[in-house]
Amino acid sequence: MSADEKFPLEEVERCKQLARVEEQFPDADACPACADARKTSGDPTDLCKEHLRRMYGI
Ligand SMILES: [Zn+2]
Repeated sequence: MSADEKFPLEEVERCKQLARVEEQFPDADACPACADARKTSGDPTDLCKEHLRRMYGI
């Protein structure tokens, strides 16, 4: 029984993506614009325009 069998691969990937966002933008959780973007889109990993801009490096 390996540890991998305890977690479906999709779940692991989802967690990794969430962790990646939090690593890059620890301040995004405290950003009101991000909270608003998440509420509007219903996507818990959504970011405001400013944070998206920084994420894509433009
Ligand atoms: Zn933001």
